[in-house]
Parts: sequence; structure tokens; C-alpha cells
Amino acid sequence: MSGSSETTPFALELSGIAKNFGSVAALKDISFTLRKGEFLTMLGPSGSGKTTTLRIIAGFMQPDRGDVRMHGVSVAGAPPNRRNIGMVFQDYALFPHMSVADNVAFPLLARGCDKADAARRAAAMLDVVGLSGFGPRSVRQLSGGQGQRVALARALVFGPELVLLDEPMAALDKKLRGTMQTEILRIVKQLGATVISVTHDQEEALVMSDRIALFENGALAQIGTPQALYETPSNPFVADFIGEANVLEGRVGAGNTIAGAGWRTGAGHHALPGAGEAVRIAIRPEKIHLADEGEAGVEVTLRQSTYLGVEYRLLVTLADGTPLQVRNRDMRRLAGLQPGETVRLTWAPEDLIVLRGA
Ligand code: ATP
Repeated sequence: MSGSSETTPFALELSGIAKNFGSVAALKDISFTLRKGEFLTMLGPSGSGKTTTLRIIAGFMQPDRGDVRMHGVSVAGAPPNRRNIGMVFQDYALFPHMSVADNVAFPLLARGCDKADAARRAAAMLDVVGLSGFGPRSVRQLSGGQGQRVALARALVFGPELVLLDEPMAALDKKLRGTMQTEILRIVKQLGATVISVTHDQEEALVMSDRIALFENGALAQIGTPQALYETPSNPFVADFIGEANVLEGRVGAGNTIAGAGWRTGAGHHALPGAGEAVRIAIRPEKIHLADEGEAGVEVTLRQSTYLGVEYRLLVTLADGTPLQVRNRDMRRLAGLQPGETVRLTWAPEDLIVLRGA
């Protein structure tokens, strides 16, 4: 109510960051801010600039242009050890010759904390990550998930202003990854840590993030909440990267409708450009249903039908050959369909995504 959030500096602020490697423009003009306690995931295809951004924030690399501020203060030129940042890497690089407790106490001792205090704080942090009692163990005697927790404890123990996670779960198997996602989130939220994570895994990004920064070719395609990127993607790239999307090109018709080759749909509450204008829409595979008897719909040809236990995945084509992906759980009706059959599909106009960007 006091309006103090307007004057509180951001935990992190990147403005106009650019970086070239020879002729490769790795980062073009990256700007975003992070509030204290926020969890931001940097997501994007290989080579889109996530790691370069992370390295610049950490201080391992200097940008060609732009500034990095932490709590309102520029850290340009400051080396990594002067930035008060905790880091967890993919291979989490624990010191192999040290015990679990010594690994976690290390950053405290390096910052001049006395031995007894460091040991006490390391033990308390091991408690937080669910490893109380593991202190005396050698780090060689840990499972992948336990090692990852020790790395997290070591990154958090000194109360860093920012925590960077560089694909911390990439080396874990899928099941363990799911458990660790929940665990890491619980721990960082309990401590109120501000976190930037890099991942290739869009599901991980959706599960963990307050906001996602989606990179494309050295630029930010979109930054926003998982819901915003999923429900209101700003362009076809975002629509297809976050979840799956069928992108269709059509023209605006009378009565707030859109039509393309062999298909026509109402646009519900969506505001459309003027009649006759070209418009691009996206529709998620799980939002497409089989039309009921007598219900209006789009006629398609079934090309492939795959049973996946809880649902079917269909590949169909529109009249002009445009492929559509469909995921549907109407198991009884879908079981009887054969490739080559004509099927009538429908969707709710409000489930359409009207794309604006290029
Ligand atoms: P990945 O998901 O594969 O890790 P990324 O999104 O992290 O990719 P970056 O590693 O930031 O992408 O790379 C961005 C671009 O910069 C790529 O074209 C990459 O080849 C290039 N690049 C990165 N580091 C260097 C370097 N040290 N020298 C030359 N080019 C580099």
C-alpha cells in the first residue's frame, strides 16, 4: 500500500546487453528485471543465448554493451567472486576430497566466517535440503539427487543476493528430476532466494518459474508468467516452443470469424483486425475435439492415430493438406477410427490464440 515497490531497486536488472563472438551476434539487446524472491527460467533452443546471458550475469564474461545492476548498483567489471552470487552447475562440481559438511561450509570460510559458525550454518543448511546427518559423509558416497542437494546447499549457505542454476537437473534421470524440481522450489522459496535457472526442458520451466524468459536467436522472444506464454504467446515461435501448437493462416470474415482453406471458425471474444485482413491463429492439440453428431466443425482427413494409454494422438490434414496435431481422450470414439477416414473436428472459439507478431 505504501507504494514502496516503485522505489525498491530490482534484485537484478539487465539493460541493453549485447555480445558478439566474431561475426556471431550471440546477444542482441537483452533487457529484463528480476524482483527479490522471484524464480526466472531462461528457456530457448540451443545457441539462443541463455548461457552467454548467465555468464555475463555471473561475471565470467563481459558484455560488449549494456549494464548489469544488482540491487540498483552496477556490477560492470566486477569479477564473479565480488558479485555475491550462488551457483549450481550441471555437473555440480563438488570438491571430491571433502566431506559433505566441508563442501557446504566452504563458501562461508572463504568469506571469513569462523570455523564453528561455518560448521553450525552448514549443518542448518543441510537440514533445509533434507540431508541432516549427511555432514561427515564423503561426497563420493552420494546419489545424484543427494549430490545435487549438497551443491544447492553450498550455493545458498552464504545468503547470496542471486542464485544461478545452470541446467542443474540435466544429469538426473527423468523421475528424479521431477522430485528435485519440487524440492529445489521448496528450498529456494523457503529461503526467499532470487533465482535464475537455465534449462532446455520446457516442462521444468513451466513447473518451477514465476516467469520464463524465452530466447530466440540472441533476443527475448517473450518474457512473462508460464500462463502468459502458454495462453497469450506473442508469436508463432513462442506458441510452438511452450507446449505444442497448430498454427493456421486465415482471413477475417464477417461476424468475427476467421476462415482458411477448407476451414472456418468463430473467434469468440478475440478482437480481430478488419474483415479481409490476414490473421494467424494457433490452437493447442488438446483443445481440439471430435464434433458431435450435427455439430458444426472442420472436416479433416485422419492420417495417423496413436494410442498413448490416457489419450490418443492424431495427425490429421485439412482440405489443403495443412497438418494438425490433436490430443484427445474420447477413447471410445477414437478407438474405432481408421486412417483415411474423414473426421469432423471442433474447438471452442475462446481456446483459439490469435497471434500478432511476425
Ligand atoms: P545451449 O542451449 O546449447 O547451451 P545457449 O542458448 O546457452 O545454447 P549460448 O551458449 O549462449 O547459447 O550461445 C549463443 C551463441 O553464441 C551461439 O551461436 C554460440 O555458438 C555462440 N557462442 C557462445 N559462446 C561462444 C564463444 N566462446 N565463442 C564463440 N561463439 C560462442
